[in-house]
Amino acid sequence: MEPISTHKLNPLEPEEFRRQGHMIIDFLADYYKNIEKYPVRSQVEPGYLSTRLPDSAPLDPKPIETIMKDVENHILPGITHWQSPNFFAHFPAGASIAGFMGEMISTGFNVVGFNWVSSPAVTELESMVMDWFGKMLQLPKSFLFSGGGGGVLQGTTWTTSSTAVDPVGPLCNVAKRYNMWVHIDATYAGGALICPEFRHFIDGIEGANSFSLNAHKWFFTNLDCCCLWVKDSNALIKSLSTNPECLRNKATESNQVVDYKDWQIQLSRRFRTMKLWLVFRSYGVVNL
Ligand SMILES: *Cc1c(COP(=O)(O)O)cnc(C)c1O
Repeated sequence: MEPISTHKLNPLEPEEFRRQGHMIIDFLADYYKNIEKYPVRSQVEPGYLSTRLPDSAPLDPKPIETIMKDVENHILPGITHWQSPNFFAHFPAGASIAGFMGEMISTGFNVVGFNWVSSPAVTELESMVMDWFGKMLQLPKSFLFSGGGGGVLQGTTWTTSSTAVDPVGPLCNVAKRYNMWVHIDATYAGGALICPEFRHFIDGIEGANSFSLNAHKWFFTNLDCCCLWVKDSNALIKSLSTNPECLRNKATESNQVVDYKDWQIQLSRRFRTMKLWLVFRSYGVVNL
């Protein structure tokens, strides 16, 4: 076993963090420089990795240089190159420098923003950026924070297999007659709706209950970042809220903050909006 160095006793030793971080950035910059040279689809057979890696977890620590050799020799061959300019499968999982930088900052802070008090900026940036985005999409005010506040029918704008678009207005009219929740799934190409010439695809959205798009598909935001707008957030809170003693705090009890843990199944919540914010800040609405 190697002698134990300082950074192994302090998992966040700043200078070692800097050294390894630079190394990984160099590796990724070279990867993107050469990405066209790789076959887009991985050429490996199922189970390929079990013939290359040991059966049990390594006992000894290894330096990052050794580990990166493994990444190049064993992991890279099993990667499908989604960011290759020659990739046309499934859907575009758009990434960008802004998305990467946002991901790095978010990962770097490593905060868990389950409720407001656990890191106020996580909640407030999310509310604000979702409002910006909603305004660009011309969503009705009832979907936005700054504007207030039986069965399920799902309409899809740009289905993933054929990019077909359901007529949103007429669907909502039918659903209303039967008191159904309407979710409009614009996950694939919904980012395009910020262009005024495409906005008509969701005419009638004011009749829907919820709307979603994936910023990680056609909006430059590295995986994963799904944006969901809901008219009646109480419907989520009534179904998903948890209030254990250990999470009680004054801010929550004041009813002046949002605790996004109550809108989702899991408790933990990472700082995803950082990426989306960097995309907006780095490119600006004009370029987007
Ligand atoms: C990609 C896609 C989904 C799945 O979205 P996830 O965020 O991966 O769960 C759902 N619906 C449509 C139309 C999609 O394109």
